[in-house]
Amino acid sequence: MEMKEEKRILVARSSLPPFEEYVEKIRPLWDSVWLTNMGENHEALSRELAEYLKVPYVSLFTNGHLALELCIQGLGLSGEVITTPFTFASTTQAIVRCGLTPVFADINPKDYTIDADRIEDLITEKTSAIIPVHVYGNICDVEKIDAIAKKHGLKVIYDAAHAFGVTYKGKGIGNFGDASMFSFHATKVFHTIEGGAITTGNEELVSLLYKTRDFGIRDEETVDSIGPNAKMNEFQAVMGRCNLLHLPEELKKREAVVERYRMHLSNVAGLAVSEPQEDVTPNFAYFPIVVDETVFGHTRDEIKDALEAHNIFARKYFYPLTNRMECYEGRFADADVPVAARTADRVLTLPMSASLEQEDVDRICSVILSLR
Ligand SMILES: *Cc1c(COP(=O)(O)O)cnc(C)c1O
Repeated sequence: MEMKEEKRILVARSSLPPFEEYVEKIRPLWDSVWLTNMGENHEALSRELAEYLKVPYVSLFTNGHLALELCIQGLGLSGEVITTPFTFASTTQAIVRCGLTPVFADINPKDYTIDADRIEDLITEKTSAIIPVHVYGNICDVEKIDAIAKKHGLKVIYDAAHAFGVTYKGKGIGNFGDASMFSFHATKVFHTIEGGAITTGNEELVSLLYKTRDFGIRDEETVDSIGPNAKMNEFQAVMGRCNLLHLPEELKKREAVVERYRMHLSNVAGLAVSEPQEDVTPNFAYFPIVVDETVFGHTRDEIKDALEAHNIFARKYFYPLTNRMECYEGRFADADVPVAARTADRVLTLPMSASLEQEDVDRICSVILSLR
């Protein structure tokens, strides 16, 4: 009997605006021939994003990672930075590439963000900042973290790469701490193909970032800070402006996917599904499950393999923990992070995008549930 190949489903799928819409908006670039260096679309996008994210300032960058590095540099951080290892490689790489030492705090088992009660024990006279991560779009305990930072004179930069558009008590999530970094990579909820931003209320930081993302150039004859090239170009900015227009409908589709997943998986013994957070407007960015194999009867890896056999590709976000990445040669491997370690060994992030149909979600869940 001939088997029909099952539809391939990847963990993420970039959303694209209608082709004609993008073309219409890039057409004027053939007249202006202003392709990068803070062009019209770049300036327009930063205003539109400031409004959407409900923040005072948005500085745009060619990607989120360089935004984070330049923010670390711009705030003058030194010595040790308290962070978590349950994140994408970028967070820890930025800290280390800026010559700082990451000090790893454990996460909480509820939403996988930094356990704010573990931060104070890790503060030493070398600590200059806290870099927590709003992982999966779940927000950290921003009130407690900002209070600890104030008490000890520390800076806070939130890695908000997953938290585009999330609000807490009606406030844009980019208003907390000294600054937040957002990623606009193609796989994120909102994207500019590659891209990123820093949001902050610190005007001085904004003018510094304006230069440092452009080689530190102040004017034609003055280069008074040290910086790489991290500018967002016009083609990226136009993609962002188009995607921003379609975001409300994309979010509705994502919400429907999350609801469908929850319907199938919320009450399954041995599977932990993340719950909505109080006072938070979510962005439905990811759908992680944490598998307790002693109850479910199968491991995370077995579920992942079973899905792959059906052409469905889930990912182990986040495994391995960043403190165990080979590049650090064991320097941070003995960090005391048992919850993060347990979660990294058991978590599986299921496919999540606005393009998933209800029947796709049904198919994914039935593969998982039929293992029992
Ligand atoms: C995507 C991501 C980044 C890096 O952003 P880029 O835009 O890809 O450079 C940083 N931190 C986290 C948690 C991310 O998911």
